[in-house]
Amino acid sequence: MEQIKAAIRTIPDFPKPGIQFKDITPLLADGDLFRQTIDAFKTRHADQEIDVVVGIEARGFIFASALAYALGAGTCLVRKPGKLPHTVHRQTYDLEYGTDAVEIHSDAFRPGQKILIIDDVLATGGTVAATIQLIQSHFDVEITEINFLLELVSLGGRKKIPSLPVHALIRY
Ligand code: AMP
Repeated sequence: MEQIKAAIRTIPDFPKPGIQFKDITPLLADGDLFRQTIDAFKTRHADQEIDVVVGIEARGFIFASALAYALGAGTCLVRKPGKLPHTVHRQTYDLEYGTDAVEIHSDAFRPGQKILIIDDVLATGGTVAATIQLIQSHFDVEITEINFLLELVSLGGRKKIPSLPVHALIRY
């Protein structure tokens, strides 16, 4: 895990002043480290018979698709508004200034399916909280766990995810 952590670089003041952006592209570019990362998630869920791995736009897709392949599960896209072509459900959420939203196809899951949600970074938790609300308000599925490559602990994102298991491979 130390090697994986060392392959993530911090870019100060991107995309705005004050943000310490965690750039995972060096990790993604290293075949061994990327495989180790996906294997670490796979090991957690190998016996759980996950039906669908949900990825949150955009870097969540990278981990969701590779993990879904490794688990023999399907994958599902949670996207920013206006990107999904079929009928959608939408959940808005508050940002520091204004609001944003996430959408999912209205036929994303079948009742009773076991799903996992994955994204690259847990920061304030707003995006993942909206994703959970989006799924729980429209679908009768079991959310097994919420996974992140890395968690920025000081931002307190976990507090926005009550009553569901959360796991991050790396914590800052
Ligand atoms: P949040 O809703 O604040 O938890 O932010 C979640 C989304 O924003 C994640 O999907 C990340 O991709 C991205 N994000 C937020 N903060 C950072 C950061 N410091 N470095 C890289 N990505 C970030």
